[in-house]
Parts: sequence; structure tokens; C-alpha cells
Amino acid sequence: RDGPTPVVRVRAVTVAFGGLLALRGIDLDIARGERLAIIGPNGAGKSTLFNVIAGDVTPGEGSVVIKGVECVHRPSRYRPRLGVARTYQKARALAGLTVRENIYLALTGHRGRHLALWRSSTDRRTDEEAAEVADRVWLSGQLDAVAGELAHGQQRQLELGMAIATRPDVMLLDEPASGLSRGERERLVELLESFDEDLTLLLIEHDMDVAFRVAHRVVVMADGERVTAGTPAQVRSDPRVHRIYLGT
Ligand code: ADP
Ligand code: MG
Repeated sequence: RDGPTPVVRVRAVTVAFGGLLALRGIDLDIARGERLAIIGPNGAGKSTLFNVIAGDVTPGEGSVVIKGVECVHRPSRYRPRLGVARTYQKARALAGLTVRENIYLALTGHRGRHLALWRSSTDRRTDEEAAEVADRVWLSGQLDAVAGELAHGQQRQLELGMAIATRPDVMLLDEPASGLSRGERERLVELLESFDEDLTLLLIEHDMDVAFRVAHRVVVMADGERVTAGTPAQVRSDPRVHRIYLGT
């Protein structure tokens, strides 16, 4: 019989942008608690695949089943109730709000318009939770800093904190290591490894070292297709992967 039902099941997904085929019939199963990295050169279709899973892009063809629910035509706002959170390749925290306020919005699932209400009725429990989340992403000292004024690496950390704050059981991270210093990358790897065993992590990563260290399984994409997949050790020694990256 087949293995356990995957948390995310992608089948035959095709996405065209005008004449450009960004995804050409992609299949992907992600098991509960799996940490899966997607690697591949720029333009491979990695972010597009994320956007399809997250509901930000509707594919021309194919199916995306999350926890047994067909989601391919459900918009992104439907994902949080399935326990799915994502980050973007470019951080999207609200630049004019503080770290605390951004985390608060993620914790409560509220939109900006509720913020005034919260400011006038400070909720202590949520305040403490916001501080805990900030601590996990090393922003305890920046709770009252304005997000738009944070250093780039800290903005990435904030966005990760906002994803954590929604208490997802499926987390999609698009290049979380990009723009981070060496030290920040080390901390990121530690954080990702500290996640609950049941959390399903789908990670796009340009930094192979981060991808290979964090992932249980690596999928390699190029030109909108899956090239190969396997354990980090298998992928690392796969000649097709070397060909893609080095053109040899
Ligand atoms: P990756 O994340 O692997 O670098 P993307 O999924 O971002 O790749 O992009 C795959 C291809 O689709 C690229 O050629 C890119 O230029 C194109 N593309 C991505 N998003 C759009 C869009 N919204 N409109 C038009 N073309 C897009
Ligand atoms: Mg991308």
C-alpha cells in the first residue's frame, strides 16, 4: 500500500505566464513532519510552485490537495485555516509598524484596521506571546523598533517570526537565508532544526549548505520541471545536479 497520506499533494501542476511555461506538470508529495528543500537555478519555477501551494497563483492545470482538501482554486486567504503559513522571497512585514505590532497581527490573524483597537486595549497575554515569538527569532531587543528601519537580516527574522506566530503545521519558507550574514545563517539553521517534529517544512533555498543541513529530502528543479530528488547526500553526488549548476 501507499505511505501515509501526504500533508501536501501536488499533481500535474502547469503554470504559464504568457508564452513562458514556469511549471511543466509538477508532482510533489510532502509527508507530515518532513523537511523538504527545493533547490535549483534562478527561474527554475521554485517560487511559482510555492505560490501555487500558497494560493497566490492559480495554475492552468493540475491539483493541490492540502490535508485532503482540494485547494487549487481556493485563494491564499483560505490557507491559514488549513494551518499553512508562508514567507516571501522579499520580506513583507508592514514597514510602518513595530516588530511587536507586526507579530501581534500575525498572532491574532487580524488585519491592520484592527490595530487601533488593539493599541487602545492592550491585551497582556498577546503581548507576552509577541515577546516570546520575538525571542525565538532573536528580536527581543527590537520589539519597539519600526519594521521598515530594521536591518535586512532582521526583517527576514521578523517575517519568520510572523509565520511562526500563526502556529502553522505547514510552513513554506522562500529563501530564508538570503541576505543573511554567516552568523545569522547559523542561527537560522538552528532555529529550523528546533521546530516541532510534526511541523512540515517546505523550504526554497539558494544556499545549498543551509538546504542540505536542514532538509530530510531535496527536490531539484530546473526549467519548470523536477530534475531529481533524494536525500541531501544523494542529491549532492548526483551528476545531473552538477550539470545544472556548473554547466558541465
Ligand atoms: P525561481 O523561484 O526558481 O527563481 P520563479 O518561480 O520565480 O523561479 O520564476 C519562474 C519563471 O517564471 C521565471 O522565468 C520568471 O521570470 C517567471 N515568472 C515568475 N513569476 C512571474 C509573473 N508573475 N509574471 C510573469 N513571469 C513570471
Ligand atoms: Mg524564487
